Amino acid sequence: MSQNAVALEAGRRRTFAVISHPDAGKSTMTEALALHARVIGSAGAVHGKGDRKGVVSDWMEMEQQRGISVTSAALQFSYRDVVINLLDTPGHADFSEDTYRVLTAVDSAVMLLDAAKGLEPQTLKLFEVCRQRGIPVMTFINKWDRPGNDALALMDEIEQRIGLKPTPLTWPVGIAGHFRGVIDRRTGVFIRMERSPGGAELAIEEEMSPEEAAERFGADWATATEELELLAMTEADHDQKTFLAAASTPVLFGAAVANLGVRQLLDILVELAPPPAARPTADGGQHAVDGTFSGFVFKMQANMNRAHRDQVAFMRVCSGRFERGMVVTHAGTGKPFATKYAQQIFGRGRETIDEAFPGDVVGLVNATSLGIGDTLYTGEQVRYPQLPSFPPEHFAVVRTNDTSAFKRFRRGIEQLDGEGVVQVLRSEQRGDQAPVLAAVGPMQFEVATHRLEAEFGVKVQLDHLPYEVAARTDAAGREILRSESNVEVMTRVRDEALLAVFPHKWRMRTVAGRHPDLKLD
Ligand code: GDP
Repeated sequence: MSQNAVALEAGRRRTFAVISHPDAGKSTMTEALALHARVIGSAGAVHGKGDRKGVVSDWMEMEQQRGISVTSAALQFSYRDVVINLLDTPGHADFSEDTYRVLTAVDSAVMLLDAAKGLEPQTLKLFEVCRQRGIPVMTFINKWDRPGNDALALMDEIEQRIGLKPTPLTWPVGIAGHFRGVIDRRTGVFIRMERSPGGAELAIEEEMSPEEAAERFGADWATATEELELLAMTEADHDQKTFLAAASTPVLFGAAVANLGVRQLLDILVELAPPPAARPTADGGQHAVDGTFSGFVFKMQANMNRAHRDQVAFMRVCSGRFERGMVVTHAGTGKPFATKYAQQIFGRGRETIDEAFPGDVVGLVNATSLGIGDTLYTGEQVRYPQLPSFPPEHFAVVRTNDTSAFKRFRRGIEQLDGEGVVQVLRSEQRGDQAPVLAAVGPMQFEVATHRLEAEFGVKVQLDHLPYEVAARTDAAGREILRSESNVEVMTRVRDEALLAVFPHKWRMRTVAGRHPDLKLD
């Protein structure tokens, strides 16, 4: 396939994730997007709350019991000749490293806010990751069909709290709870919106002249036009450059549950969101999208399908054309990897795929030799940077009392470490039999213990350690810290990094203050 053809395919891809706090409506939005578009990628049944049959599926028992999603994969659909890849971010308040990693594989993000709640803690955390990575963010103010905050107050909140300039593309007519439709700020056209009877179908939309809207919606119309005048004075117009530089955010209003404003979101994904672009490489260069094939693994998952008992590596294609059956090179080891079992996976559903282009996500089955962050390529040699490792905030010793299960225990711990489910630390004072698990969110522990039992048949005991902060140190630091109490230095098995762990930030500060030569970062 010519470079030109690959560039064209890359140009019509949009790969994004929704960042939101639990309950803001991410699953509902995913379903609404799928309703408007044509789902290409396979789908299971939604982790539905309510009676909507949808497209997102949970696969682990634990998820089903709790109704939360702890896995992430991608859903692919087409809209206006564009292929959209929506990467799922686990949506529990106690997010994990997985969520962060998904954000290394997207080109943009949609920040979904509940109109009544505005910016919530998890949204802020995820937004921070987007900011650090320079990911352009679009904002969707959801649940405008029920009472919520004032639209201008929400714009203020975004600007004041996260320093992102909101540039509304649509503006609601009618306060939250009395949604009449939106004014398209770029064209001035008013689009009246109405939920379809039952709400499960596309919304009813009709363009209406300002005169007719004024007559029909009187006070609501007057308020909206006044607000628009105020906005016009604050230079709140969309600017593609600042949006791509992650300094401004286009804003839309709607109600995912009634499919209101969802079409507009798809339109701006197509028109404004960036397609895959050249990607920075580990050696400080850039790898163009239209070169030979390359991709990196951003997520590992074992035993997704009981019938298969396999290990799946989710890879984002970064350049070139991926073709199933291709033998690619593993950049870390230089060894070949056969991609006979490439699949597109979402929830329970899987489908064999034959080709993929930059921005697409491919599930590689039987990927036991792959790890998180690994680069795969053909042709021109390339290696993408390691995925960032996040400082853990939760620590626990894990043991099994069943001596006959010790081998399986070890294998299980290794597996979970390789997949990045938890970080595994070696502690001098506790020895091999009692590794320490470290996590960014405590849910990672639950996933680990559940999987050790379900997949490896090992019952484990978890003893939480009273530490909350970790910082990297070196061998000299380890010696210095021997004289301090309430501090331990452990080795992270994954990268042999030495981590000093402290009960609190202030304890770390006191210790650091006492030893000016101590390396802590
Ligand atoms: P998630 O946790 O972010 O995936 O949120 P869900 O999609 O499960 O939605 C949480 C709740 O909010 C559910 O009861 C939804 O029906 C409801 N919801 C989602 N979007 C809307 C909306 O636009 N309007 C209203 N009124 N409710 C919504």
